[in-house]
Amino acid sequence: MAQVSEKEILDTLESIIDPDRGKNIVSLGMVSGLQAKDGHVAFAIEVDAERGPALEPLRQAAEKAVHGLPGVISASVVLTAERPPAPAAAPPPGAPHPPGAPRPADAPLMPGVKAIVAVASGKGGVGKSTTAVNLALALAKDGRQVGILDADIFGPSIPRMLGIPGRPNSTDGAKLDPMENHGVKCMSMGFLVDEETPVIWRGPMVMSALEQMMRDVAWGELDVVVVDMPPGTGDTQLTMSQRVPLAGAVIVSTPQDIALADARKGLNMFRKVDVPVFGLIENMSYFVCPHCGERTEIFSHGGARREAERLGADFLGEIPLDIAIRETSDSGRPIVIDQPDGPHAEAYRKIAEKIWRNIDAGAAAEGPKIVIQ
Ligand code: ADP
Repeated sequence: MAQVSEKEILDTLESIIDPDRGKNIVSLGMVSGLQAKDGHVAFAIEVDAERGPALEPLRQAAEKAVHGLPGVISASVVLTAERPPAPAAAPPPGAPHPPGAPRPADAPLMPGVKAIVAVASGKGGVGKSTTAVNLALALAKDGRQVGILDADIFGPSIPRMLGIPGRPNSTDGAKLDPMENHGVKCMSMGFLVDEETPVIWRGPMVMSALEQMMRDVAWGELDVVVVDMPPGTGDTQLTMSQRVPLAGAVIVSTPQDIALADARKGLNMFRKVDVPVFGLIENMSYFVCPHCGERTEIFSHGGARREAERLGADFLGEIPLDIAIRETSDSGRPIVIDQPDGPHAEAYRKIAEKIWRNIDAGAAAEGPKIVIQ
């Protein structure tokens, strides 16, 4: 298929008129960050923050126009604002949702997905992605249909950990097909942008990309999707926990106090938006020397269990620091797949079963949905 050029895209966008200023968005210099690669097009429309909500139709029109060009498989258009909105202004897209108001998720983002579980951490580098991947793979046993959504827009690591190269296709020309390996489906920004291209996006763009990875991907019927959340507890994470209809969240921490302080923030963030916290996982819990078998508690041990007790949350289990866990996920065959009969796979499976029981309990508590016509 012929590759679409930047000129063709810009020519098309000249038909999109800013309703307030009466000129097209190209001549007004509103189009920025245009990327077109292998039929995947992405760009931003720069607007004043306070105009953001009113310009959603403009964003959609631009997306539709570009999507209609020959050779375009996906079009991701986001509104982005340089300046924060005035305090009294309506919330920009991506702003925290007022409690009690209907969520945008009213139009389900992933209609065939029965449960979405977030794997989060208060800070980066604690092994959140490694844990998310191994748990997804452990959940996929006994015929469960599982997906993993890499919401770490700025540092997507799931494609490498699942050993999936390449880019997604679109079978129906409308939605992207998720990528798949080791029996789990997966979508990640890592498939859509170059590894060398640093992704420097502002909050609303991140939300929009994330929503597209849910709405515009043919996830199909799945029992559970594990979301590898971005690290930290900033606004993006908070917004996301509100916009994604989460069945629950698990928090990964290393045992030392400093990491636990961040884990506590993570837990409080989910509680603030009424997302059930299924519990804490202690990663890099202890180290067993491969030579002499001696156990060393590098970051001390048991901190997450104690913290969970203090916070009234469940402790889901501990995973040791082991070079095999790093090597296997670096090589695209996480330890649950590579050494399914080993103790680490067993540890992940046990945690996965606890998570599954929590999902089941949540679904049962909601009860059957009765529709009165
Ligand atoms: P995060 O998602 O929290 O930033 P990652 O999952 O990317 O963290 O892990 C950071 C690094 O630590 C990776 O190189 C990963 O392979 C390694 N790692 C994670 N958990 C373990 C573990 N239990 N034992 C050994 N290495 C680990």
